[in-house]
Amino acid sequence: MPRRNPGRERPQQRKSTARHGERGDAFRCVGCRLDVSMIAPGTAHRNHCPHCLTSLHVDHRIPGDRRAACRGRMAALSVTVRQDGEWLIIHDCQSCGELSANRIAGDDNALALLRIAIRPLSDTRLPVSALLTL
Ligand SMILES: [Zn+2]
Ligand SMILES: [Zn+2]
Repeated sequence: MPRRNPGRERPQQRKSTARHGERGDAFRCVGCRLDVSMIAPGTAHRNHCPHCLTSLHVDHRIPGDRRAACRGRMAALSVTVRQDGEWLIIHDCQSCGELSANRIAGDDNALALLRIAIRPLSDTRLPVSALLTL
């Protein structure tokens, strides 16, 4: 798991009194400002934006428990695949640094998922080209 790049640090978002426009059935994405319905195909708890995959640090241990006081912005850092083949997004909280794994939803942006999945391969220190010359 690659650690957070310190150069990528953004200034802390000030806690606004407008609670990210969150209602019971929808939320406003803190990444791209999309209004996102909580109803998602294939998952009981929509916890990230289907467009840019950004999430909010609201869950403490169990998805949907809403017990975290942090409420920091969680950026999609990486993807991983469970033994049963299900994809998970690794979210990285920009405020407290906590990592969490979240199931993808059926309507998540496939290009955004792929972009994260191949990010390690774009590291020029890896001899990816060696694979192609076999
Ligand atoms: Zn978004
Ligand atoms: Zn946090």
